[in-house]
Amino acid sequence: MAVYIGCGTVFGLAMGMGWVAPDASMLPWATFVGTMLAVLYVALRSGWSARFHDAALTAPQIVLGVTAACWGYVLGGPVRTAALFPLLLVLIFGTFSLGWRRILWLTVFAIVSLSFSIALRHGPSPGGDWSLDAPGMHVDLVNLGMLVVLLPATSLVAVRLSSLRRKLRSERRALTEALAEVQRLATRDELTGLPNRRHMQELLDRELARSARHEHRFSIALIDLDHFKRINDAHGHAAGDAVLRSFAMTAVGGLRGHDVLARWGGEEFLLLMPDTAGPQAEATVWRMLERVGHLPFMDAGSLSFSAGVCEYRRGETATQLLDRADVQMYEAKRAGRGTVQVG
Ligand code: GH3
Ligand code: MG
Ligand code: MG
Repeated sequence: MAVYIGCGTVFGLAMGMGWVAPDASMLPWATFVGTMLAVLYVALRSGWSARFHDAALTAPQIVLGVTAACWGYVLGGPVRTAALFPLLLVLIFGTFSLGWRRILWLTVFAIVSLSFSIALRHGPSPGGDWSLDAPGMHVDLVNLGMLVVLLPATSLVAVRLSSLRRKLRSERRALTEALAEVQRLATRDELTGLPNRRHMQELLDRELARSARHEHRFSIALIDLDHFKRINDAHGHAAGDAVLRSFAMTAVGGLRGHDVLARWGGEEFLLLMPDTAGPQAEATVWRMLERVGHLPFMDAGSLSFSAGVCEYRRGETATQLLDRADVQMYEAKRAGRGTVQVG
């Protein structure tokens, strides 16, 4: 808009000085350009244009620009050459979203439009003066020749910039995807899809800090599958992996939204239960034991685990809390497995 107003003002001043063709009037030109700009503005601002692939309406804007410049050329009389400068800018505008085919077509459109404007200046073919030495013909032909050279070159720059932009955009998308994948790999256990040990350690530290600030309680449970070696020995490692996966799925299925189960290593899992006191945590783990008890566990009966449940004590470190849970878990093993010990 600023460029239209600026160029229009320069031409208007030249008209005011009487330097332009004597019978020329800016009014129809300004009305046309003003209306088109208003239509484009509303189409863009209202979101109406979002339905198109070319949502910025770049191609229509270029067509408007070429039309306005060529119209200016017809109006311009002796100063008409100046009307061609904006044409170069108009085509560069295509850089923002158009592919090379559209830019090529718009370049052809600009050259044809200028030829048409020149023809218009010299009148219709029966009555007009089309000789080489007709008034102003030299300037028109040199202008046309220069534009035939310069417009494709400008378009080439626009195409290069456009493809550079596209490449940048796709590289940025690939980078974002790679970053999300790295994030997933860094925090997830590949086999079960549960949070991994490193991520759980972070969550535990965060919970400890939260608990120190707000004085709320939380509990953890260290869970170790019973006689897991037997599955591997009897059915192979792949079968063992499948059991780990179905354990993870079944166990998580019975948890509340805030509870987090992570793979702590091998066939050991750590359950973090925010806002949960010891007895409540114990009940949760018993429920989990019951749920996984229904899992088909090859031919060796039902799946079970031994768990040590501990409520966090104010002032202790994560390591101390984990050590206590570990002691309780071994207590559960000693007590015959398939049980939950609280301490
Ligand atoms: P316990 O009741 O005393 O815990 O007996 P267990 O056999 O479960 O205990 P142990 O620590 O002796 O063996 C754990 C087994 O878990 C040994 C190891 O081969 C197996 N294991 C650890 N990680 C994986 C894994 O990712 N996949 C499979 N298939 N097996 C695993
Ligand atoms: Mg173990
Ligand atoms: Mg075990």
